[in-house]
Amino acid sequence: TEQQLRQAERLDSLGQLAGGIAHDFNNILAVISGYATILNEELGPDHALHADALAIEQAAARGSGLTRQLLIFSGLEPSRPELLDLNVVATDMQRVLSRTLGDDVELTTMLSLNLPRITIDRSKLEQVIMNAAMNARAAMPSNGRLTVSTEVVRETGHVCLSIIDSGRGMPPEVAARAFEPFFTTKGRGKGTGLGLATAYGVITEAGGTISLDSRPGEGTTLRICLPPAEIAAPASTLVRRPPSTTGRIL
Ligand code: ADP
Repeated sequence: TEQQLRQAERLDSLGQLAGGIAHDFNNILAVISGYATILNEELGPDHALHADALAIEQAAARGSGLTRQLLIFSGLEPSRPELLDLNVVATDMQRVLSRTLGDDVELTTMLSLNLPRITIDRSKLEQVIMNAAMNARAAMPSNGRLTVSTEVVRETGHVCLSIIDSGRGMPPEVAARAFEPFFTTKGRGKGTGLGLATAYGVITEAGGTISLDSRPGEGTTLRICLPPAEIAAPASTLVRRPPSTTGRIL
């Protein structure tokens, strides 16, 4: 409908605006972070202002994480698709995930062996998984379980990664809007509302699907499915890495 078209155009220009600002902002943050690092080194660890300089550096790092998110969301960050084994990505991320989740969340990884490979920008996929883990973390304030699992859907041949948390889940009115850009229940300064919108963009760009299954009090499953590389793109368009850097074959 015309209204949907207007909405789409509005989101599109919003994305471009956000991306443009993010790009300039990132340069500013790089300057702040650079000078804070110099300051830190000049002051030395014993100086009274050392902690302040460190706080500047850390705030700049958080800002640059946010601008990166905005850049990916806006589509201004170019994609470099590569052939990947989802099991390798899931395994390689275990350490950073368990650090993000903290000690009171139990992380389990369940891998289905011999997955067909997929084609996607690795760092964007990792950002999607990190966002999901941070959402899961926020939904499990005291303790909980996070399961990362992989599987092949027999009917379609798609390769899927599920991120399953035991958190508070979402009421239907939140679940219905969760993928909407800038929709957040986390309050000002805490959530950007760009996590799932970005995930949607990244996964659909790679020809895949992303879906949520959530019930209040019963936890949430975020499921990402991607077509096998043979279907996704002709081999000649792929950026191939030598086997040594592609990682382990599981
Ligand atoms: P943000 O995390 O910045 O709020 P997202 O797009 O990632 O933005 O998420 C939008 C909203 O969807 C969240 O504010 C939250 O209400 C809900 N949500 C997302 N993931 C989960 C989850 N695993 N459990 C419960 N609620 C979730």
